[in-house]
Amino acid sequence: MPRPDFKPVRAEAVCITGARLLDPASKLDAAADLLVADGRIAKIGSAAGGGFEGLRIDGAGLIVVPGFVDMHAHLREPGREDEETIRSGAEAAAAGGFTEIACMPNTNPPVDDRPSVEFVRRRAAGLVTDVHPIAAITKGQRGDELVEMADCAEAGAVAFSDDGRPVEKASVMRRAVEYAGMTGRPVISHSEDLSLSDGGVMHEGARSTRLGLRGIPSISEEIAVDRDIRIAEYVGGRIHIAHVSTAGSVRLIREAKARGVTVTAETCPHYLTLTDEAVQGYDPNAKMNPPLRTAEDRAALWEGLKDGTIDAVSTDHAPHSSEEKNVEFDAAPFGVIGLETAVGLLLTHGVHKRKLTLRELVLVLSVLPRRILGLSEARIREGAGANLTFLRPDAAWTVDRDGFFSKSKNTPFHGWALKGAAAGVLRGDQFYLAP
Ligand SMILES: [Zn+2]
Repeated sequence: MPRPDFKPVRAEAVCITGARLLDPASKLDAAADLLVADGRIAKIGSAAGGGFEGLRIDGAGLIVVPGFVDMHAHLREPGREDEETIRSGAEAAAAGGFTEIACMPNTNPPVDDRPSVEFVRRRAAGLVTDVHPIAAITKGQRGDELVEMADCAEAGAVAFSDDGRPVEKASVMRRAVEYAGMTGRPVISHSEDLSLSDGGVMHEGARSTRLGLRGIPSISEEIAVDRDIRIAEYVGGRIHIAHVSTAGSVRLIREAKARGVTVTAETCPHYLTLTDEAVQGYDPNAKMNPPLRTAEDRAALWEGLKDGTIDAVSTDHAPHSSEEKNVEFDAAPFGVIGLETAVGLLLTHGVHKRKLTLRELVLVLSVLPRRILGLSEARIREGAGANLTFLRPDAAWTVDRDGFFSKSKNTPFHGWALKGAAAGVLRGDQFYLAP
């Protein structure tokens, strides 16, 4: 099946009748009509659209929530536009229920100065999903010289990260946390001790031994998480831990928060739904960094999400071409796409399995990532700018990578039966509802 065209609608006025409106921050959870006019929520209530002329949507079976944010996506522009462009990434995000995403700087060339940050903002202008650039911590992501953080922040960078690579020198990370603090933007840590991961391709444990694959031990992540928490604590700065994958990291973050360190963290749907068992058939789509861990780690991640140790769920959407990804496990690049499956996976394996409430889902996908990145709040109340995600919590569907708007197909979830889907987004006057 060929990739469909992406068709958002520009609508001056939209009326959604009878949907469930859920916004924890506004203490709103009720079935009501919602009228959006000129990009703002004009009215909430019964018959909000009396005598209304515009786009009318039957909201039966729909839940409307504050717009979701993916705070960690890799788009491949500039450099690998065949794998993902800023536009195709934004379209995949909208189809997946995200009104805003933040994109990592490891493009070619990387986003590490004012012009490269401005390039992303320019390419993202007018797209239905807003794309916020994350600038590199160090020039060329080489780990030595800090980028001009004030310049990058002024141009629109919402955070700093060398994601894809750790910042190896603790002294550089220390200065990064200090300088980023002056801009008010967080440093996002790709926490990995390269000397411990040492060419590994999957989680180090009984299974890696059996499969004859080189392992990445949990301590590769945990030692780096511990280091960066200690740096933030020492300088009185902020650190955000990307893609937490181990029980040990959850424990470290929980303890740090308890003693008042300004640390936040995210995990990803694949760590919440898969384990290293997925590597059994040597499927390259089960290869990501950090690697899929054990069932105990997975349980600890759900627990951390539930008790607020982990603040956000991000996708770590990492597009790769089939030619590069579909090779021998050892040789395949790390990473899977996730923008179009995240919400469905979290509804199916979180909400429907009672590991998360819908309210908590809104916290980890909207409220908290917005707070971490300093983005405007998305609220469902009269007068607020329209920034909304639509959910069909009971829709049964099967993941089909050939129907994705992403230019890449490297998902481990192809063929999965899910219950609950992202149904669309409304941001400003741009509206997209899945067919
Ligand atoms: Zn990373």
